[in-house]
Amino acid sequence: METLKYDLYDVVEMKKPHPCATHSKLFQIVRLGADIKVSCLGCGNLIMMSRFDFNKKIKKVIEHHEGPLEKKGQ
Ligand SMILES: [Zn+2]
Repeated sequence: METLKYDLYDVVEMKKPHPCATHSKLFQIVRLGADIKVSCLGCGNLIMMSRFDFNKKIKKVIEHHEGPLEKKGQ
């Protein structure tokens, strides 16, 4: 399995949509460490997972951003 290159604040597409009302597959990386925290671009919820899990769930990197995106509903 190939490992994708990603960086902090990248917007990424996951293989499975977030089980929220928007079913967004797009997430932004908001913390990059031993654990990775991503924010659903649909609902703004934060999901934390291990780098190992993240590598399994990521589909592709969409685009890079220099900082956090505006979250809806906040
Ligand atoms: Zn969501």
